[in-house]
Amino acid sequence: MRKSWNRLKHARFLLCLSLLNALLTLSVAQSVMASSLPSQQLDIAFDLAGHRLTGKSVITVPAQTAATITLSGLEIISLHLNTTPIQATKQLTILPTPQEQQVTISFQKTVADSQMDGLIDPSGIALTGLWHPQLDTACLYALAAAIPKQFAAISEAEEISDTVSGKTRTVRFRFSHPADSLNFVAGPYVVEQEPITPGQTLYSYFFAEDRELAAEYRKKTLAYLKRYQELIGPYPYKRFSIVENRLPTGYAMPTFTLLGQTVVRLPFITETSLGHEVLHSWFGNAVGVDASQGNWCEGLTTYLADQAFAADKGADAGFRKQQLINYQSYVASDNTLALKDFSGAGSHLASGNKTARAVGYDKGSMLFHMLFREIGDAPFYAGLRYFYARFRHQQASWQDLMASFNTSSHQNLEPFFSQWLSRADLPRLEVTMDSLKEKDGQMELGLTIKQLQEKPYRLRLPLDIVTAKGKERREVTLTDAETKLNLSLTDYPSLVIADPDYDLMRTLAPEELPPTWSRFLGSRERLAIIPEAEDRQIYAPVIELLTSLDCPVKTASEATDKDLAGKAVLFLGTNSRLARSIFAPPPQAATGFTLEARENPLAPSQVAVLITSSSAAETAAATPKLAHYGKYSALYFNLGRIERKTIAESDQGIRLAIDTPPMGIALPQALSFTAIMEQTADRRVVYVGESHTRNEDHLLQLRVIRALFAQNPKLAIGMEMFSREAQPVLDRYLAGELSEREFLKQSGYFSKWGFDYRLYREIINFARRNKLPIVALNQEKELVSKVFKEGASALTAEELAKIPADRDLAIPGYRQRITEVFAMHGQHDATEQLNGFFQAQAIWDETMAESVTAFLNAHPESRMVVLAGQGHTDKATAIPPRVARRLPTIRQAVILNSENEALDQTEADYLIFSKPVELPPAAVLGVMLANTPEGPRVEGLSEKSKAGAAGIREKDLILALDDEPVATIDDLKIILLGKEIGKQVTVRIKRKSGGWFKQEAVLSVPVVL
Ligand SMILES: [Zn+2]
Repeated sequence: MRKSWNRLKHARFLLCLSLLNALLTLSVAQSVMASSLPSQQLDIAFDLAGHRLTGKSVITVPAQTAATITLSGLEIISLHLNTTPIQATKQLTILPTPQEQQVTISFQKTVADSQMDGLIDPSGIALTGLWHPQLDTACLYALAAAIPKQFAAISEAEEISDTVSGKTRTVRFRFSHPADSLNFVAGPYVVEQEPITPGQTLYSYFFAEDRELAAEYRKKTLAYLKRYQELIGPYPYKRFSIVENRLPTGYAMPTFTLLGQTVVRLPFITETSLGHEVLHSWFGNAVGVDASQGNWCEGLTTYLADQAFAADKGADAGFRKQQLINYQSYVASDNTLALKDFSGAGSHLASGNKTARAVGYDKGSMLFHMLFREIGDAPFYAGLRYFYARFRHQQASWQDLMASFNTSSHQNLEPFFSQWLSRADLPRLEVTMDSLKEKDGQMELGLTIKQLQEKPYRLRLPLDIVTAKGKERREVTLTDAETKLNLSLTDYPSLVIADPDYDLMRTLAPEELPPTWSRFLGSRERLAIIPEAEDRQIYAPVIELLTSLDCPVKTASEATDKDLAGKAVLFLGTNSRLARSIFAPPPQAATGFTLEARENPLAPSQVAVLITSSSAAETAAATPKLAHYGKYSALYFNLGRIERKTIAESDQGIRLAIDTPPMGIALPQALSFTAIMEQTADRRVVYVGESHTRNEDHLLQLRVIRALFAQNPKLAIGMEMFSREAQPVLDRYLAGELSEREFLKQSGYFSKWGFDYRLYREIINFARRNKLPIVALNQEKELVSKVFKEGASALTAEELAKIPADRDLAIPGYRQRITEVFAMHGQHDATEQLNGFFQAQAIWDETMAESVTAFLNAHPESRMVVLAGQGHTDKATAIPPRVARRLPTIRQAVILNSENEALDQTEADYLIFSKPVELPPAAVLGVMLANTPEGPRVEGLSEKSKAGAAGIREKDLILALDDEPVATIDDLKIILLGKEIGKQVTVRIKRKSGGWFKQEAVLSVPVVL
């Protein structure tokens, strides 16, 4: 940052290494000659033990000149206008007169301890706030300071001289350029120096205890000074000093930089912030900011320092991407700011400054990068050199910058500057493919690029076309909301990447945006879920931080799962029911403090963050550091020391897959069924996925069960088709205590599952014959549909006890797969419905995983075959990873029948190629039925209904079939299971006839099935 301060608001600074506080708007005209400026002679002395400054200021106001002098924060002892004593006020207005006027002020100031902008102490002096009378215009200063003999002092100065008398050293500072205010620092410094160029000298003012750092700082500073002299023009002053401060600052003032003692000890400062502060000598100090049009100097300094240092290491694309992530984390449509309205912002650590800084520093830097690409290398630097030469020791505006680049590039850059300075929105791009044609060995790729924001920008968009031979770079100019492209290519493309190196200031696509801590901090819709009172104490410092950030807070028992939808959420501790319903139990370190950010599975484009801590001490040590690590997805602190920090993977550039080649298998690698079964011999769980109505899938299931049973008879069959409450009925049937009909009736098979029982009959009979347990895996249908409709929070305590508390919704790819399934069911837009569907799916998968695990834990000798729909056997996202979470040491395998569809490697371990086998048609009446208290009633008849042909009509009640009574639809289905096609059955019905005399008739109707 450049150090300067606003006279009216007495700003307090926090640790800040590359930032700028609000700049003065100077009312003095640029062309005013130095002699017509006011001047101020300051004489100061100190009582260090009393933390007090005594000063005398003589301000000379030229003839015909008005001035306002701010005295707030000062204790005025006497005040004279010319020779007339006047009453002290906070602000003194001097009206213009024909003669020169003189204001003489005697003042004192006591600096209370631990102010960021002031220290007067036997250990040193640092005055960077309001410590002397302050004019509303720049003026010429002369400063004389009396300090202890053993101190050295620094202020804005090109010449410093001193004399010693007794115990006192008097230091005189001369600075020939107008300044807004002075800063003053003194202390027991070790002062060392070396030449920059003839007539220019570099000094280091370091405390004795840090003296060994000074040489490295001077060496790095010399390199930066050389770099920028060559790039921009001569260093503007006769001296440059690196000054250590007792207070934790990071400021750049004319002729020196003031770095806190804690700051200079950080190892990376010489590689990053030091260069930024040195560069402010050119931009910010020598060329001041005419803030009437906004602040250009932080964007320019960030581009030529921080971004350029990343480019030196070949890491500039990543640096710019990080700038865009930062921007997107903190700037939303309701708090955005045009670049021309950025005047400055304080510390990057204070949450209130993040939005302005993302605009002024990040977007500002991107503007210069886009300008560099627009006009090219040579005109860009020529423009900078011209600008510096023209405005050195003056103030300049965005307009002045633009005029310089217009001259150097011979272009009219008004449209470019105008869109990036005035607009507060960003381009948002979408790339889609229209066509891919091959003709005479030439490929022609048709693309549409849309600008999704309200009004199109003019943009130069780089495109990488990836082919088997490598990448080919194209650049297209976009001016409209929609641009159609036809690209001729010599090779078959597989991928198009738009803006792969982050050359454009734009909104990132969701796939480019990793889940980061900053996205919670910057979210406009956020909620923190804090533990109940008894567990809260351990997280007290984080809760305090959240309060200071105005983050809404609910306790775990107050919050519902609807609260998680549409918001960035933060959970403290793993015990909250809601945290566990998203994160399952995450691995928690035994000691230390962890923070993990993921995409919120219930709120696309928002994050879910989980903080866990092993003790109140760990929380207290780590929490103050969190502000430094916004860009990370996962953090681990041990006693406040950062030990692990990672950023989740995200796409580089906007990616459009043109072609995903299909996968195949080499036939020599095809395995016989026997070989596959041998390979699964050590698998504790073997899943055989099914399409419920495909008979060959069920035949494969039985085949696998037979083979595994032959390997080892300690085998159980887990079935999705039965929910847990059917277990006693299943057990009784397997034990031979029930007939098949009783089993089907008591288990409610037809009303709960409903698929043709013949698909499962042989599997269940195999288990019955061989005394294999069948485990009912599933959750009650009614409970799941309640979650689908009303959310998990609608469940009663009794219902909640039936579902696993730990549900992992954040398994990568899970939401995407469920969204695709949801869309296939014809549901598209309703996010709330999708969330309900998603939670319901997760309850199924988690319940079944829990059932599998419970059985295996209770039967350590046993293995299990799991029969479930393919959606539930998915190797990467469904039951298998959820069993693995509960039983991390076991091995599992997933077997599927090939369905002649695209193969996804994460779906299964083994793919079997079976012949299709149709079941013979089932014996049906061809009626649609509804249960009534009197029995099933015919609601409709199918086109070729056998019952219809035999004379059964709508509204008939079915009472019996072949004399077996029918009370429910289930009864009828159970009886029909034993009937054959082509045979005659007798259906007894009750028919009501209308009219005045209601009549009922019971009829026996013969039906040929
Ligand atoms: Zn700066």
